[in-house]
Amino acid sequence: MTENTIVDAVVIGTGAGGAPLLARLAMAGLKVVVLEAGKFWKATEDFATDERAQDFLFWNDERLSAGNDPIAFGRNNSGTGVGGSTLHYTAYTPRLQPDDLRLRTDFGVSEDWPLDYQRDIEPYYDELEQFLGVSGPAQYPWGPIRKTSYRYGPLPVNGAGRLMEKGCRELGIRTSPAANAALSAPQFQEGYGWRSACTNRGFCQAGCNNGAKASMDVTFIPLAIQHGAEVRAECFVTGFERDSQGRITAVVYEQDGQEQRQRCLNVFLCAGAIETPRLLLINNVANSSQQVGRNLMAHTALQIWGEFEQEMQPWRGIPGAVISEDTHRPAEADFVGGYLLQSIGVMPVTYASQLARGRGLWGQSLHEAMSRYNHVAGINIMGECLPYEHNFLELSDEKDSRGLPKPRVHFSMGENEERLTSHANQIMREVWAAAGARNLWAFPRNAHIIGTARMGTDRETAVVDPNGRSFDIPNLYISDSSTFPSALSVNPALTIMALSLRTADNFLKS
Ligand SMILES: Cc1cc2nc3c(=O)[nH]c(=O)nc-3n(C[C@H](O)[C@H](O)[C@H](O)COP(=O)(O)OP(=O)(O)OC[C@H]3O[C@@H](n4cnc5c(N)ncnc54)[C@H](O)[C@@H]3O)c2cc1C
Ligand code: SF4
Repeated sequence: MTENTIVDAVVIGTGAGGAPLLARLAMAGLKVVVLEAGKFWKATEDFATDERAQDFLFWNDERLSAGNDPIAFGRNNSGTGVGGSTLHYTAYTPRLQPDDLRLRTDFGVSEDWPLDYQRDIEPYYDELEQFLGVSGPAQYPWGPIRKTSYRYGPLPVNGAGRLMEKGCRELGIRTSPAANAALSAPQFQEGYGWRSACTNRGFCQAGCNNGAKASMDVTFIPLAIQHGAEVRAECFVTGFERDSQGRITAVVYEQDGQEQRQRCLNVFLCAGAIETPRLLLINNVANSSQQVGRNLMAHTALQIWGEFEQEMQPWRGIPGAVISEDTHRPAEADFVGGYLLQSIGVMPVTYASQLARGRGLWGQSLHEAMSRYNHVAGINIMGECLPYEHNFLELSDEKDSRGLPKPRVHFSMGENEERLTSHANQIMREVWAAAGARNLWAFPRNAHIIGTARMGTDRETAVVDPNGRSFDIPNLYISDSSTFPSALSVNPALTIMALSLRTADNFLKS
């Protein structure tokens, strides 16, 4: 397609928010082009079992981090390349629970989602778990009774998972094998063909090189291409052209240092919860509510590490093997919302960098701590975070290599996050102590940027409507975690994909 062709839709970004709707639109016969800033990798040839060598999967452009609890970017945050952050995600795919959508109703704070779990989200979870090939338990103990089973049985539980099971059992906390979007058996799926089973290599965050992990490059992207979508990699979107009514008529982007444009009837902006608001702010569009960049949330994600007598091989196996949602709404909690508990595997360089940042260890002391790496196991939480005025993204005066303003992200935990973290800190320490851990240490963390282009029913307080459509620009849709009205106490990718499919379906019906 040439730039003078007017396509039905330009999609910006190929991650969890972009790829599913790209495939849906292409399957409906629409002429679609996706513009992706990163490269189109071939996992089997380009991905190594080497964390440092895989740094190219992360969005490494500088982001300025401010506030009392500045968020780490790079490998802690988002990715780039065809597949977006799913190239490096750990593939944990828990479903949200319906009361996650009702924080304002239940607690009087944050926002309710303008969606109904059974009508708007559950059918997409059912579809996604089959299509992606999610592996999980026969019976999941939490949330509404499922209408479908996971397509495959759970992946083997690694060392950290077995210890979490043991510690939780002692304390009367229920556990379950986690749901992971990685295959416990080889799969043939109409649309993308065969994918291999997981080999338990454990380097999911460095990219899966055999296709077992359901990243977008091996699932929705091939499906989209098969139905005629054009994927243009290494194309960085910088702006929009608009007509006198304000509708977008073309998307402007940089390719090989040249400015290009693609004319279009509709735009789906799926650049992730930092680049999406940044692009809107740079172009001063879709912001009559003044909410673009506001309501920024980041999951509370404290990790507790311990050392064990036995060899753990912490890199081995699917990293997130065991889960508990008994802390989803803890009894007598002094905070709003809740969290889930997850066992975690860790690769060596990641662990060393956490020791340096979290415990301030360098040189000989870091070396000594790393000599015990093979005996460590971790457990972490995925916890609610409320939206606050003091947490937001803005454009800074500093410019990046393209001459565009760098984003500055302000983040400070509120009292609710402090209380929730302190509750989780105690429980995780008890679990690890019951499992026989020594030398416990805590690594405070916030992960997943959420909420910077919020969805709602009121154009005064939200950027997009419940279908992801901009209140200001009728042919602009947003699909990524920026539209979440609240953070949820689960990992976000499955829900981002569900909303992506829903946005496409409602667009096609309109
Ligand atoms: C280490 C790590 C592990 C994780 N593990 C899990 C997990 O186990 N489970 C889970 O649910 N979540 C996990 N996440 C989070 C999850 O990966 C993300 O929340 C999710 O993938 C975000 O989807 P998205 O579509 O919003 O953005 P992304 O997937 O980041 O996609 C955005 C895409 O847009 C492109 N882009 C950005 N700006 C432009 C531009 N101007 N022009 C063109 N293209 C552009 C980017 O290159 C990128 O490819 C993890 C995150 C990290 C960092
Ligand atoms: S553990 Fe499984 S899903 Fe993860 S990188 Fe290895 S093969 Fe892929």
